[in-house]
Amino acid sequence: MRMPLFQKILSSLVVALMISSCSPTIIVKHEGNCCLHHQTIAQSSQERSIQDVALNGKVYSALWQQNAAEFRALCYQAFNIATEVVNQKVGGVQSRPLAIITDVDETFLDNSPYAVTQAKRGNEFDLDTWLEWTSKGAAMAFPGSLRFYNYAASKGVTVFYVTNRNENDKAGTIKNLKDLGFPFADAEHVIVMKETSNKEMRRKAILEKYDVIMYLGDNLTDFSELFYKKSQSERNHQTDELSEAFGTLFIVLPNSGYGDWESAVPGFNTKGTPEEKDKAILKSLKGY
Ligand SMILES: [Mg+2]
Repeated sequence: MRMPLFQKILSSLVVALMISSCSPTIIVKHEGNCCLHHQTIAQSSQERSIQDVALNGKVYSALWQQNAAEFRALCYQAFNIATEVVNQKVGGVQSRPLAIITDVDETFLDNSPYAVTQAKRGNEFDLDTWLEWTSKGAAMAFPGSLRFYNYAASKGVTVFYVTNRNENDKAGTIKNLKDLGFPFADAEHVIVMKETSNKEMRRKAILEKYDVIMYLGDNLTDFSELFYKKSQSERNHQTDELSEAFGTLFIVLPNSGYGDWESAVPGFNTKGTPEEKDKAILKSLKGY
């Protein structure tokens, strides 16, 4: 049985506070406390050994997404590049209407509050709690995203939201997009997952009528099925092969919380225990 995550965080904080109050000067002046301090430090290293890797990772990723100015800067960077692509593509001779295909979650909607609440419950993703979250329609937009999508729309570019949220999530998603002020927030342009998480067929249906000038996503399968359920090494290889497409045709947003990069670690095995997942993660990591 795992110790609840926040109990561990709390015990780590208590230990950290004890360590931080123990300056070298105090150790020298009060030799009687010295061994106790050493004991505390030794105990803390043991307590702080790597445990619950995946769940703790979700908390740290949410911390970064919710607080790091660097995260905001990366979002601005991506949407500034995307704006440049729109400027380059519009205004020329075109036989068919222009469109953008964009993913939703962690491409411009911030679901880190869901990750935090799940971690407090000692859980990762599951469909029931996900629906509980998406039904609220309360996700915030990534910095720069609202301005970008509305700019593209103002230039005559249609936006298609191709998401692996499902039919149950659709009403909440449309409400969320409308409330935030995103363009094309309707049933026709929010295209949810039906039979498969592979987005290729949904992209092809759009490509029959539109010239797609750009794809935006946080997961490489948002761009091409070349990445669909591929191993880590194949994903890396395909990324290298397509290196020139990034920043021109494919715009990537940062997501360190989840994605196929994570699923690929235990070989897309969704039936493994949390302990098996952690074992696979630790096995894949390089130290020195
Ligand atoms: Mg996504």
